Amino acid sequence: MAQFEKIIVETLADDICRVQLNSPENANSQDVKMLYELNEALMTAARDDRIRVIILGAVGKHFSAGHDLRKGLEGLQEVGRDYPLTSGWSGVGTSTIEGWHGWEHEMYLDMCRRWRAIAKPVIAQVQGGCIGGGLMVAWTADLIVASEDAFFQDPVVDLGVCGVEYFAHIWEIGSRRAKEKLFTADRWSAKDALEWGMVNHVVPRQELEEATLALARRIAAKPSFGVKLTKELVNSCLDQQGFSTSIDHAFALHQLCHAQNRLKYGTLVDPTGLAESVRRSLPDGKLPEIPALRVEQ
Ligand code: ZN
Repeated sequence: MAQFEKIIVETLADDICRVQLNSPENANSQDVKMLYELNEALMTAARDDRIRVIILGAVGKHFSAGHDLRKGLEGLQEVGRDYPLTSGWSGVGTSTIEGWHGWEHEMYLDMCRRWRAIAKPVIAQVQGGCIGGGLMVAWTADLIVASEDAFFQDPVVDLGVCGVEYFAHIWEIGSRRAKEKLFTADRWSAKDALEWGMVNHVVPRQELEEATLALARRIAAKPSFGVKLTKELVNSCLDQQGFSTSIDHAFALHQLCHAQNRLKYGTLVDPTGLAESVRRSLPDGKLPEIPALRVEQ
């Protein structure tokens, strides 16, 4: 098993693999290292025929605070240089629009699609905050078990962007609720998520690991080929309803938002909409610039 810094991988009951985000001091915000490690851990479990179910969880108070906005150009350059590309995309890692589009294609769109297509059940185990990019990771799972303290939010309209890169909101919570939660950047609770069909079960925080494992054990005991093809079938039905083509369309519009923000502010997002807690975590309280597109106004 590979050694990871920001991911913990455990084998439970011989046939269940639990992969957990492990950067609790940063509320499991996702940087390049974490996402490449998560990709490697999930794909290793996917290819291991002894593993029948994967649990995707997180250590600490929160599942994930979303994408780590602190690195800017430095994070852009790590991809392809420090981490070999996992997709067939090219032109990644430059500060042009082509480079940023390629970076998000590789890091967000392609990884999420790859994880969604893993040919065995994945159960997300979610506690605390599941924000922005945290939603993307949880939504790639087939089932979600949440604790009573879990809450969900995609606040990126505040940042001048039309939702996170993997735009599954409509299928996850319904179109009117998705519009309201995106327009207002409001949170929704675990209870709401259960009522709206986004999560399968809500349990007390202290029972989250055991409840998720119990569900995984039940599924692991089923014939794996039948389970695998059932997953394929449900995902195929969603695709026929427009899931995949909507993700493509949303990704293109998302890139348009980044391009606008880079021209207007010299950063990927509108800095005026940053939450104060996020601003405090940034070096000098400012988003890193992506200078190649900076224009004088
Ligand atoms: Zn983006």
